[in-house]
Parts: sequence; C-alpha cells; structure tokens
Amino acid sequence: MRKSLILIISFILILSVIVYNNYFLESEVTVYAMDTVMKIKIRGNQDVLNDVEKLLYDIDFKFNAYNSKSYIYKLNEGAIKEVPDDVARLIEFSLKMCYETDGNFNIALKELKDLWNLSGENPRIPTDEEIGNALKSSDFSKIIVKNNIVELNGAKIDLGGVVKGYAADCVVALLKTKGIKEAIIDLGGNVYSYSDNNDITVGIQKPFSQRGDVVCTTAVNDKAVVSSGTYERYFEQDGKIFHHIFDPCSGYPSDNYIESVTVIGRSSAECDIYSTALLVMGKEKAKEFYINHPEYEFLIISKGVLYKTPGLNINLIDSDFEVNDILK
Ligand code: ADP
Ligand code: MG
Repeated sequence: MRKSLILIISFILILSVIVYNNYFLESEVTVYAMDTVMKIKIRGNQDVLNDVEKLLYDIDFKFNAYNSKSYIYKLNEGAIKEVPDDVARLIEFSLKMCYETDGNFNIALKELKDLWNLSGENPRIPTDEEIGNALKSSDFSKIIVKNNIVELNGAKIDLGGVVKGYAADCVVALLKTKGIKEAIIDLGGNVYSYSDNNDITVGIQKPFSQRGDVVCTTAVNDKAVVSSGTYERYFEQDGKIFHHIFDPCSGYPSDNYIESVTVIGRSSAECDIYSTALLVMGKEKAKEFYINHPEYEFLIISKGVLYKTPGLNINLIDSDFEVNDILK
C-alpha cells in the first residue's frame, strides 16, 4: 500500500529558537493561538499580559485562513472585499514582500498548502496535475489592495508565513506603550526580546534533532530572531523529506539542501518573511540578498555547515558543525 510507504515523522512544531536567560522576568502567560504555543514573559505586572492575550486571539481570529469567520477565509470565498485597516495593511505589506523576494515568498499558496496537507493527518505527494491546478490560484500579481478593499481576482491567500512575525511586532508595540522595559516574546520560535539591562541569549535548534538541542547561541537585544526549518513539519517517503515550505515555481517543498534559516532584525514580520523566502531562494541568492539588505543578519544551516553573515556573532555549541562566512 502506498500509504504504508509514508513514515510520518513529525507534525509537532519544534521550537526553532530557544530562549536561554529568562530568570529575571516575574510575569508570564502562555497562549495557544495560530496553531502555536506562545509564551510571553515580562518584567512588570501580570495585568498587561491579559491585554497581550486578547491581542493574540484577535490576530488569530482575523487572519486564520481556516476559520470561517476570519477576514482571510471570507476573502478567499469571495464573500467580502472590504476589510478593516489592519487586515488590509498586512495583506498590502505581505504582497509588497512577495514582489520584493521575487515571489519566493508568496502569500497565494493556500491551495498548494491544502493539497500537500502537511498540517493534516494524511499528507501525501500530489500528482503533477493536482499541483498544476493548485498553482492556478497562486498568482499574487492578481491581488489588488486599495485602501480597505482587497481584490483577490482568483488568488487564494494564506498568511501563515508572516502572521506570527506580525503578531510578535504587535505584542512588542503594545508592551512598550504600556511602559514594559523588559520582555521575551516567544511565538513558537518567532522570538523577540528586549531589555534595558541585559542582552538575551537565544539558541538555534539543531535540525532533525531533539527539541532543545542547539547548534549555536547568539546574544540579542531589541531584535527579532526567527527561524524557518524544513524539520518543523514534514513527512518522509522513500527516504526523501517533504516539508512545509514550498517553492512556488515547482509546487514542491523547496529542495536545495538548506535545513533551516534564522533571520535577525528589527521587524519580526520581515524576519518571518525573509526566513521563509531565503529558505526557498537557496544559498547563492541569499548571499545577494545580504548585499542588498545588510541590516539583517542570518544563519543558514545546510549539510553540517553554519553559513553566517559577517555581522552575526555566534557561540558554537555543537562542534560537529563547521562555521563559514556566507560571503566567502
Ligand atoms: P512556521 O509557520 O512553521 O513557523 P514559516 O514561518 O517558515 O514556518 O512559515 C511556513 C508557512 O508559510 C507554511 O506553513 C505555509 O503556511 C506558508 N508557506 C509555505 N511556503 C511558503 C512560501 N514559499 N511563501 C510564503 N508562505 C509560505
Ligand atoms: Mg517564516
């Protein structure tokens, strides 16, 4: 039986960025939203975290393409065109990033994602015909956003590659407005941390290893650290891994020996998008990307090597890995 060939390894999201020194924070909340366990820790009063929790549920409610009450679901169904300002602005921004990444990041892969069903119980390799059909709704250039009106013109969208990053930025903005001076926001591996007196050490998950095994650590402050990994959701068939980050050209999971990409920068939404896009682009294009975007540091893990940008300082933990400068 075909199904028996499929060995399902993991559908549980493994945290790809692990926060180390969080001893100084007195209040915390755990929220389950966006298919993710989220932890927010602050130095400050627990009350603020009630607002954070509400904010995260609200974002999930608005942007979840699989909730029939969400704006994204209704847009995909053709049931509405007008959306609130925050929804329109995130779609507009994500669309701009589709162009900016030459379509390697593509918000119109909803049907392809459904077809592969990597979040479901029976993922499988689709036929070429099925992939061709799913790609018919993947042309993001058909999407038009004008003020609060979104016209999809046949494209079907899913903001799964950006919404957690966006949510982290929203949480940071809320906490800073409330006067919180120290916080660690961990939205399932989309980490943002800031502090007025400490750098925060984060560990980068070793691909296909036990949760918590890290390859290296890095110290950051007031920055997002976001990883995308092929080891996060995948199935294996006939010795090959089929994971949840798609090459929009082929309709298959990206296939370039990159196991994970971690991006560090000021905007968590952008880091989230770039970590997905760089994973699809591959190493050579990632190099070009760095030359054009030196404000982002990143780390690519591929076949036992950590390729890092020159501005990124890491502390190697797993000496089985070699460290290379991506520009060399
Ligand atoms: P995770 O959501 O597991 O943390 P990512 O941030 O890398 O990982 O986002 C992966 C999600 O983004 C997929 O589950 C899917 O919803 C969506 N996606 C997959 N491939 C692409 C792509 N090329 N461009 C944009 N979104 C993508
Ligand atoms: Mg991402």
